[in-house]
Amino acid sequence: MKIEKIETFLLESPIDEPFGWGMGWTDRRQSLICKITTDDGMVGWGESGGGPSASVIHDCFSDFLIGEDPRNINRQWHRMFYSLHNGYATGGFGGDAISGIDIALWDIAGKASGKSISEMLGGAVREKVAVYATGLYYRKDEFPTKLIDEALSYVEAGYQGMKTKVGGLSVAEDVRRVSAIRRAIGDDVYLMIDANKAYNASTAIDLGNRLADRNIHWFEEPVMATDVAAYLQVKAGQPIPVAGGEVLRNRFENRDILIDRALDILQPDVMLAGGITEFRNTAMLANTLGIQVNPHLWGSPIMISATLSLASTLPPCPYSVNPRPYEQEPVVEFDRTPNPIRNELASVAFEQEGGFVDVPQGPGLGVEIDESALNRFCIHHTSAG
Ligand code: CA
Repeated sequence: MKIEKIETFLLESPIDEPFGWGMGWTDRRQSLICKITTDDGMVGWGESGGGPSASVIHDCFSDFLIGEDPRNINRQWHRMFYSLHNGYATGGFGGDAISGIDIALWDIAGKASGKSISEMLGGAVREKVAVYATGLYYRKDEFPTKLIDEALSYVEAGYQGMKTKVGGLSVAEDVRRVSAIRRAIGDDVYLMIDANKAYNASTAIDLGNRLADRNIHWFEEPVMATDVAAYLQVKAGQPIPVAGGEVLRNRFENRDILIDRALDILQPDVMLAGGITEFRNTAMLANTLGIQVNPHLWGSPIMISATLSLASTLPPCPYSVNPRPYEQEPVVEFDRTPNPIRNELASVAFEQEGGFVDVPQGPGLGVEIDESALNRFCIHHTSAG
């Protein structure tokens, strides 16, 4: 079996109501989808973090990947990694490009062997994966009615946890907003906050202390993603557990923040972190250091399947006779913001029940892509081979 063709599809869809976070607002959703076709007609699907990574895939990888055996994932991963200036340009879009190809290779290898991704990884240690609702972004004229209605809709849908944004308003206004959500949902539902790097350390510490008695389960990306010293400052200066790492591209970029224990919770993202191969390596390093891994997830059904499959295989942190989500067991982000691509790209959407989603059953990712939807959303297509 040989790789015959590599394609990328940049998908885009407008959304009805713009939403905002600590770093911006959006009125559209995008996904970069990778498709690998083999000489015997098998197809593998991957997803990559950013649109510009399509250029890296075609300019840097396509030439040497075409003609290779897609089932030898380790060989292709290392060739991609070291082709990027001896591994030096593997941050940013280089890491995204590796991720998209890696996920597609795992999909093909699974389909070729008749196994799911979790089976290929040695088997699931849990039948269902816990998820929390990501929503409660900033919206126009939201406070308080629309915001509270949204929070209550997640409780009603059965979620045991939800995450909201901070960093887009003043500290005082964000405290008022988060406090209103906590009052509305009661104390039994997990509530997390995410600043998307919008604070310096002293502002993050101020916010964390003002929210000290609101029972916030984690404070995500309070400061710049690579600023280990600032993370340590935030961790020491306020009482909420600190989470981060969604934009770090490989185990080397994660190394210092993990070894220095600058995070309580690591949130690797499979379409940024180096695909299924490198997510696994990074998660194992975190687990070794006693740092909980709660995967970041923001994308199409390809990403959702890859992430749930990985999460099903992660060891508890640590083992307990009664391991629980949010305590020892991983809990995966479940994006509830509007996204027609997420809803329409695959024939079957992933649904939660009681805050859990079933582990995807293969072969491969087990995701049937609707190619008419793919072409409908596509705004830029490139092909090699
Ligand atoms: Ca985040």
